[in-house]
Amino acid sequence: MGKIKELSTVLTNQIAAGEVIERPSSVVKELLENAIDANSSRIEIQIEEAGLRKIKIIDNGDGMVHDDAVLSIKRHTTSKLYSPEQLFRIRTLGFRGEALASITAISKTTIETSTGEDVGTKLTVKGGVIEADEVVPPIKGTTITVESIFYNTPARLKYVKTLQTEMAHISDIVSKLSLSHPDIAFILKHDGNELLRTSGTGDLRQAIAGNLGTTNARKMLSFKGEDNDFVVTGYTSLPELTRSNRNYIFIFINGRSIKNYAINKAIVAGYGSTLMVGRFPITVINIEMDYLLVDVNVHPTKQEVRISKEYDLAKLITQAISQSIQSVQRIPVYGAGQ
Ligand code: ADP
Ligand code: MG
Repeated sequence: MGKIKELSTVLTNQIAAGEVIERPSSVVKELLENAIDANSSRIEIQIEEAGLRKIKIIDNGDGMVHDDAVLSIKRHTTSKLYSPEQLFRIRTLGFRGEALASITAISKTTIETSTGEDVGTKLTVKGGVIEADEVVPPIKGTTITVESIFYNTPARLKYVKTLQTEMAHISDIVSKLSLSHPDIAFILKHDGNELLRTSGTGDLRQAIAGNLGTTNARKMLSFKGEDNDFVVTGYTSLPELTRSNRNYIFIFINGRSIKNYAINKAIVAGYGSTLMVGRFPITVINIEMDYLLVDVNVHPTKQEVRISKEYDLAKLITQAISQSIQSVQRIPVYGAGQ
Protein backbone atom coordinates (compact mmCIF):
# COMPACT_ATOMS: atom_id res chain seq x y z
CA MET A 1 0.00 0.00 0.00
CA GLY A 2 1.31 3.42 -0.90
CA LYS A 3 1.26 6.18 1.68
CA ILE A 4 0.48 9.25 -0.43
CA LYS A 5 -2.94 10.85 0.01
CA GLU A 6 -4.48 13.97 -1.48
CA LEU A 7 -4.88 16.80 1.06
CA SER A 8 -8.44 17.57 2.13
CA THR A 9 -9.94 20.82 0.82
CA VAL A 10 -10.13 22.29 4.30
CA LEU A 11 -6.44 21.56 4.86
CA THR A 12 -5.36 22.93 1.45
CA ASN A 13 -7.23 26.13 2.15
CA GLN A 14 -5.64 26.51 5.58
CA ILE A 15 -2.17 26.04 4.14
CA ALA A 16 -2.78 28.48 1.30
CA ALA A 17 -4.33 30.99 3.71
CA GLY A 18 -0.87 31.41 5.25
CA GLU A 19 0.30 32.92 1.99
CA VAL A 20 -2.60 35.30 1.36
CA ILE A 21 -3.62 36.21 4.92
CA GLU A 22 -0.57 37.41 6.80
CA ARG A 23 -2.32 39.62 9.37
CA PRO A 24 -5.73 41.23 10.06
CA SER A 25 -5.09 43.97 7.49
CA SER A 26 -4.76 41.31 4.76
CA VAL A 27 -8.39 40.37 5.44
CA VAL A 28 -9.43 44.02 5.23
CA LYS A 29 -7.58 44.42 1.94
CA GLU A 30 -9.11 41.36 0.30
CA LEU A 31 -12.65 42.16 1.47
CA LEU A 32 -12.39 45.79 0.37
CA GLU A 33 -11.08 44.79 -3.04
CA ASN A 34 -14.06 42.49 -3.43
CA ALA A 35 -16.46 45.27 -2.42
CA ILE A 36 -14.84 47.60 -4.97
CA ASP A 37 -14.92 44.95 -7.70
CA ALA A 38 -18.65 44.53 -6.93
CA ASN A 39 -19.31 48.16 -7.97
CA SER A 40 -20.08 49.49 -4.49
CA SER A 41 -20.50 53.25 -4.05
CA ARG A 42 -20.34 53.14 -0.25
CA ILE A 43 -18.21 50.89 1.93
CA GLU A 44 -18.16 50.96 5.71
CA ILE A 45 -15.38 49.24 7.63
CA GLN A 46 -15.94 48.50 11.31
CA ILE A 47 -12.92 47.20 13.19
CA GLU A 48 -12.72 45.97 16.77
CA GLU A 49 -9.39 45.49 18.56
CA ALA A 50 -7.37 46.07 15.40
CA GLY A 51 -9.28 43.30 13.66
CA LEU A 52 -8.39 40.58 16.14
CA ARG A 53 -11.88 40.67 17.63
CA LYS A 54 -13.87 41.67 14.58
CA ILE A 55 -13.64 42.94 11.00
CA LYS A 56 -16.97 43.93 9.49
CA ILE A 57 -17.28 45.30 5.96
CA ILE A 58 -20.62 46.54 4.69
CA ASP A 59 -20.96 47.32 0.99
CA ASN A 60 -23.85 48.33 -1.24
CA GLY A 61 -22.51 46.58 -4.33
CA ASP A 62 -23.88 43.92 -6.69
CA GLY A 63 -24.26 41.22 -4.05
CA MET A 64 -24.46 37.50 -4.80
CA VAL A 65 -27.24 35.02 -5.44
CA HIS A 66 -27.35 32.04 -3.07
CA ASP A 67 -25.41 29.59 -5.24
CA ASP A 68 -22.65 32.10 -5.98
CA ALA A 69 -22.28 32.81 -2.26
CA VAL A 70 -21.79 29.10 -1.59
CA LEU A 71 -19.25 28.84 -4.45
CA SER A 72 -17.41 32.03 -3.44
CA ILE A 73 -15.77 30.41 -0.42
CA LYS A 74 -14.24 27.60 -2.50
CA ARG A 75 -10.68 27.88 -3.77
CA HIS A 76 -10.17 29.06 -7.36
CA THR A 77 -13.74 30.19 -7.85
CA THR A 78 -14.13 33.65 -9.36
CA SER A 79 -16.53 35.71 -11.43
CA LYS A 80 -13.67 37.88 -12.71
CA LEU A 81 -11.58 35.66 -14.96
CA TYR A 82 -13.07 33.17 -17.39
CA SER A 83 -10.35 32.71 -20.02
CA PRO A 84 -6.53 32.77 -20.33
CA GLU A 85 -6.62 35.78 -22.70
CA GLN A 86 -8.23 37.84 -19.92
CA LEU A 87 -5.33 37.21 -17.53
CA PHE A 88 -3.25 39.85 -19.29
CA ARG A 89 -6.03 42.43 -19.31
CA ILE A 90 -7.17 42.26 -15.72
CA ARG A 91 -9.32 45.23 -14.76
CA THR A 92 -10.55 44.02 -11.38
CA LEU A 93 -8.50 44.10 -8.18
CA GLY A 94 -9.07 40.41 -7.53
CA PHE A 95 -8.90 37.48 -9.95
CA ARG A 96 -7.27 34.54 -8.18
CA GLY A 97 -10.42 33.38 -6.47
CA GLU A 98 -8.67 32.45 -3.26
CA ALA A 99 -9.35 35.26 -0.77
CA LEU A 100 -12.69 34.09 0.58
CA ALA A 101 -11.51 30.48 0.66
CA SER A 102 -8.48 31.54 2.71
CA ILE A 103 -10.31 33.94 5.04
CA THR A 104 -13.09 31.51 5.84
CA ALA A 105 -10.54 28.73 6.45
CA ILE A 106 -8.85 30.54 9.34
CA SER A 107 -11.75 32.33 11.06
CA LYS A 108 -15.41 32.38 11.89
CA THR A 109 -17.04 34.34 9.07
CA THR A 110 -20.59 35.32 8.22
CA ILE A 111 -21.51 36.41 4.71
CA GLU A 112 -24.80 38.24 4.25
CA THR A 113 -25.45 39.02 0.62
CA SER A 114 -28.20 39.82 -1.83
CA THR A 115 -28.51 41.13 -5.36
CA GLY A 116 -31.59 43.00 -4.16
CA GLU A 117 -33.96 40.63 -5.95
CA ASP A 118 -35.86 37.70 -4.43
CA VAL A 119 -34.10 36.72 -1.24
CA GLY A 120 -30.89 37.32 0.63
CA THR A 121 -28.46 34.69 1.89
CA LYS A 122 -26.62 34.43 5.18
CA LEU A 123 -23.83 31.87 5.43
CA THR A 124 -22.03 31.11 8.67
CA VAL A 125 -18.67 29.52 7.98
CA LYS A 126 -16.16 28.23 10.52
CA GLY A 127 -12.77 26.86 9.57
CA GLY A 128 -13.91 26.54 5.96
CA VAL A 129 -17.07 24.58 6.77
CA ILE A 130 -20.57 26.02 6.28
CA GLU A 131 -22.35 25.74 9.62
CA ALA A 132 -25.56 27.58 8.71
CA ASP A 133 -27.22 28.61 5.45
CA GLU A 134 -30.16 30.93 6.09
CA VAL A 135 -32.58 33.10 4.12
CA VAL A 136 -32.51 36.81 5.05
CA PRO A 137 -34.25 39.94 3.67
CA PRO A 138 -33.02 41.02 0.19
CA ILE A 139 -30.97 44.12 1.01
CA LYS A 140 -28.72 44.80 -1.99
CA GLY A 141 -25.04 44.45 -1.17
CA THR A 142 -22.79 42.32 0.94
CA THR A 143 -21.81 42.40 4.60
CA ILE A 144 -18.94 40.18 5.68
CA THR A 145 -18.03 39.76 9.34
CA VAL A 146 -14.79 38.03 10.26
CA GLU A 147 -14.23 37.00 13.88
CA SER A 148 -11.73 34.80 15.71
CA ILE A 149 -9.10 35.30 13.01
CA PHE A 150 -6.28 32.71 13.15
CA TYR A 151 -8.17 30.74 15.84
CA ASN A 152 -7.03 27.46 14.25
CA THR A 153 -3.57 28.63 13.14
CA PRO A 154 -1.89 29.55 16.46
CA ALA A 155 1.53 29.92 14.80
CA ARG A 156 0.18 32.77 12.68
CA LEU A 157 -1.47 34.41 15.67
CA LYS A 158 1.93 34.57 17.36
CA TYR A 159 3.26 36.81 14.59
CA VAL A 160 0.55 39.41 15.09
CA LYS A 161 2.15 42.58 16.48
CA THR A 162 0.66 45.16 18.88
CA LEU A 163 -2.87 46.42 18.32
CA GLN A 164 -1.41 49.78 17.34
CA THR A 165 0.81 48.28 14.63
CA GLU A 166 -1.99 46.09 13.26
CA MET A 167 -4.39 49.06 13.19
CA ALA A 168 -1.79 51.19 11.39
CA HIS A 169 -1.63 48.51 8.68
CA ILE A 170 -5.42 48.55 8.38
CA SER A 171 -5.55 52.36 8.13
CA ASP A 172 -2.88 52.25 5.44
CA ILE A 173 -4.92 49.79 3.37
CA VAL A 174 -8.07 51.91 3.68
CA SER A 175 -6.12 55.07 2.78
CA LYS A 176 -4.71 53.48 -0.35
CA LEU A 177 -8.04 52.14 -1.53
CA SER A 178 -9.98 55.32 -0.75
CA LEU A 179 -7.38 57.49 -2.54
CA SER A 180 -7.42 55.27 -5.61
CA HIS A 181 -11.25 55.25 -5.62
CA PRO A 182 -12.47 58.81 -4.94
CA ASP A 183 -15.83 57.82 -6.46
CA ILE A 184 -16.52 55.48 -3.53
CA ALA A 185 -17.43 56.76 -0.04
CA PHE A 186 -15.29 55.01 2.58
CA ILE A 187 -15.91 55.10 6.31
CA LEU A 188 -13.43 53.52 8.73
CA LYS A 189 -14.30 53.03 12.40
CA HIS A 190 -12.10 51.50 15.07
CA ASP A 191 -13.79 50.49 18.33
CA GLY A 192 -16.58 52.93 17.46
CA ASN A 193 -14.30 55.90 16.69
CA GLU A 194 -14.38 57.29 13.16
CA LEU A 195 -10.84 57.40 11.72
CA LEU A 196 -11.55 58.24 8.10
CA ARG A 197 -14.45 59.34 5.93
CA THR A 198 -14.29 60.17 2.23
CA SER A 199 -17.09 61.80 0.28
CA GLY A 200 -17.27 59.50 -2.72
CA THR A 201 -17.87 62.44 -5.06
CA GLY A 202 -15.10 61.39 -7.44
CA ASP A 203 -12.93 64.39 -6.59
CA LEU A 204 -9.41 63.27 -5.63
CA ARG A 205 -8.71 66.41 -3.60
CA GLN A 206 -11.78 65.65 -1.47
CA ALA A 207 -10.58 62.07 -0.97
CA ILE A 208 -7.23 63.49 0.15
CA ALA A 209 -9.08 65.79 2.58
CA GLY A 210 -10.96 62.77 3.99
CA ASN A 211 -7.62 61.08 4.63
CA LEU A 212 -5.24 63.87 5.61
CA GLY A 213 -7.50 66.73 6.65
CA THR A 214 -8.73 69.81 4.79
CA THR A 215 -5.76 71.98 5.73
CA ASN A 216 -3.28 69.56 4.18
CA ALA A 217 -5.50 69.00 1.14
CA ARG A 218 -5.39 72.74 0.43
CA LYS A 219 -1.60 72.57 0.29
CA MET A 220 -1.56 70.05 -2.55
CA LEU A 221 -0.80 70.99 -6.15
CA SER A 222 -2.20 69.15 -9.10
CA PHE A 223 0.12 67.82 -11.80
CA LYS A 224 -0.20 66.09 -15.13
CA GLY A 225 2.13 64.53 -17.66
CA GLU A 226 1.58 62.49 -20.77
CA ASP A 227 3.55 60.68 -23.46
CA ASN A 228 2.76 57.90 -25.94
CA ASP A 229 2.68 55.20 -23.28
CA PHE A 230 1.70 56.84 -20.00
CA VAL A 231 -0.66 59.40 -18.51
CA VAL A 232 0.29 60.54 -15.00
CA THR A 233 -1.96 62.75 -12.89
CA GLY A 234 -2.32 63.52 -9.23
CA TYR A 235 -1.63 65.86 -6.37
CA THR A 236 1.63 66.59 -4.62
CA SER A 237 2.33 68.74 -1.57
CA LEU A 238 3.87 72.20 -1.57
CA PRO A 239 7.55 71.98 -0.55
CA GLU A 240 6.53 73.38 2.86
CA LEU A 241 4.33 70.36 3.58
CA THR A 242 6.57 67.34 4.04
CA ARG A 243 6.93 64.14 6.03
CA SER A 244 9.96 62.41 7.52
CA ASN A 245 9.37 59.20 5.54
CA ARG A 246 8.08 57.97 2.20
CA ASN A 247 4.85 56.51 3.63
CA TYR A 248 2.75 59.35 2.24
CA ILE A 249 3.73 58.74 -1.36
CA PHE A 250 0.80 56.79 -2.79
CA ILE A 251 1.42 55.22 -6.20
CA PHE A 252 -1.39 53.73 -8.26
CA ILE A 253 -1.11 52.04 -11.62
CA ASN A 254 -4.44 51.63 -13.40
CA GLY A 255 -6.15 52.03 -10.02
CA ARG A 256 -3.97 49.50 -8.21
CA SER A 257 -1.71 50.45 -5.31
CA ILE A 258 1.88 49.43 -5.99
CA LYS A 259 5.36 49.78 -4.58
CA ASN A 260 8.14 50.90 -6.87
CA TYR A 261 11.36 52.57 -5.84
CA ALA A 262 12.14 54.11 -9.23
CA ILE A 263 8.79 55.92 -9.29
CA ASN A 264 9.22 57.01 -5.69
CA LYS A 265 12.64 58.47 -6.50
CA ALA A 266 11.29 60.17 -9.62
CA ILE A 267 8.65 61.99 -7.54
CA VAL A 268 11.18 63.29 -5.01
CA ALA A 269 13.52 64.30 -7.87
CA GLY A 270 10.76 66.56 -9.20
CA TYR A 271 11.27 68.79 -6.16
CA GLY A 272 14.92 69.47 -7.05
CA SER A 273 16.53 71.29 -4.14
CA THR A 274 13.29 72.65 -2.67
CA LEU A 275 13.01 69.76 -0.19
CA MET A 276 15.22 69.59 2.88
CA VAL A 277 17.39 66.51 3.20
CA GLY A 278 15.47 63.67 4.84
CA ARG A 279 12.06 65.21 4.08
CA PHE A 280 9.56 63.70 1.64
CA PRO A 281 6.41 65.03 -0.01
CA ILE A 282 2.84 63.84 0.30
CA THR A 283 1.90 62.60 -3.15
CA VAL A 284 -0.97 60.76 -4.75
CA ILE A 285 -0.06 59.69 -8.27
CA ASN A 286 -2.26 57.86 -10.74
CA ILE A 287 -0.46 56.24 -13.64
CA GLU A 288 -2.50 55.04 -16.54
CA MET A 289 -0.96 52.74 -19.09
CA ASP A 290 -1.78 49.90 -21.42
CA TYR A 291 -2.51 46.79 -19.37
CA LEU A 292 -0.02 44.96 -21.58
CA LEU A 293 2.85 47.09 -20.22
CA VAL A 294 2.21 46.03 -16.63
CA ASP A 295 2.44 42.51 -15.31
CA VAL A 296 0.35 42.11 -12.17
CA ASN A 297 0.59 38.35 -11.97
CA VAL A 298 3.80 38.40 -9.95
CA HIS A 299 2.85 37.73 -6.33
CA PRO A 300 -0.37 36.72 -4.52
CA THR A 301 -0.46 39.93 -2.49
CA LYS A 302 -0.20 41.83 -5.78
CA GLN A 303 1.87 44.76 -4.46
CA GLU A 304 4.84 44.22 -6.73
CA VAL A 305 4.35 44.82 -10.42
CA ARG A 306 6.73 44.77 -13.36
CA ILE A 307 6.61 47.78 -15.64
CA SER A 308 8.00 48.00 -19.14
CA LYS A 309 9.69 51.32 -20.05
CA GLU A 310 10.18 52.20 -16.39
CA TYR A 311 12.93 54.71 -17.22
CA ASP A 312 10.67 56.73 -19.55
CA LEU A 313 7.94 56.72 -16.97
CA ALA A 314 10.28 58.02 -14.25
CA LYS A 315 11.39 60.86 -16.51
CA LEU A 316 7.81 61.84 -17.28
CA ILE A 317 6.90 61.91 -13.57
CA THR A 318 9.89 64.03 -12.55
CA GLN A 319 9.02 66.55 -15.30
CA ALA A 320 5.34 66.75 -14.37
CA ILE A 321 6.04 67.29 -10.68
CA SER A 322 8.87 69.73 -11.34
CA GLN A 323 6.62 71.87 -13.58
CA SER A 324 3.93 71.97 -10.95
CA ILE A 325 6.35 72.92 -8.15
CA GLN A 326 8.05 75.58 -10.25
CA SER A 327 4.71 77.17 -11.14
CA VAL A 328 4.27 78.22 -7.50
CA GLN A 329 7.89 79.05 -6.75
CA ARG A 330 8.17 82.80 -6.18
CA ILE A 331 11.96 82.81 -6.38
CA PRO A 332 13.25 81.59 -9.74
CA VAL A 333 15.05 78.26 -9.56
CA TYR A 334 18.41 78.76 -11.22
CA GLY A 335 19.51 76.06 -13.57
CA ALA A 336 16.06 74.49 -13.73
CA GLY A 337 13.97 74.16 -16.86
CA GLN A 338 16.88 73.91 -19.30
P1 ADP B 1 -11.61 36.97 -6.48
O1 ADP B 1 -11.85 38.32 -5.90
O2 ADP B 1 -10.18 36.76 -6.85
O3 ADP B 1 -12.56 36.61 -7.58
P2 ADP B 1 -12.49 36.00 -3.89
O4 ADP B 1 -12.26 34.72 -3.17
O5 ADP B 1 -12.03 37.25 -3.24
O6 ADP B 1 -11.84 35.87 -5.33
O7 ADP B 1 -14.04 36.13 -4.21
C1 ADP B 1 -14.69 35.09 -4.94
C2 ADP B 1 -15.92 35.62 -5.66
O8 ADP B 1 -16.93 35.97 -4.72
C3 ADP B 1 -15.69 36.89 -6.48
O9 ADP B 1 -15.20 36.60 -7.76
C4 ADP B 1 -17.08 37.49 -6.50
O10 ADP B 1 -17.86 36.95 -7.55
C5 ADP B 1 -17.69 37.07 -5.17
N1 ADP B 1 -17.64 38.13 -4.15
C6 ADP B 1 -16.75 38.23 -3.14
N2 ADP B 1 -16.98 39.32 -2.37
C7 ADP B 1 -18.04 39.95 -2.92
C8 ADP B 1 -18.77 41.17 -2.60
N3 ADP B 1 -18.42 41.94 -1.57
N4 ADP B 1 -19.83 41.48 -3.39
C9 ADP B 1 -20.18 40.69 -4.43
N5 ADP B 1 -19.53 39.56 -4.79
C10 ADP B 1 -18.48 39.19 -4.05
MG1 MG C 1 -11.07 38.99 -4.10
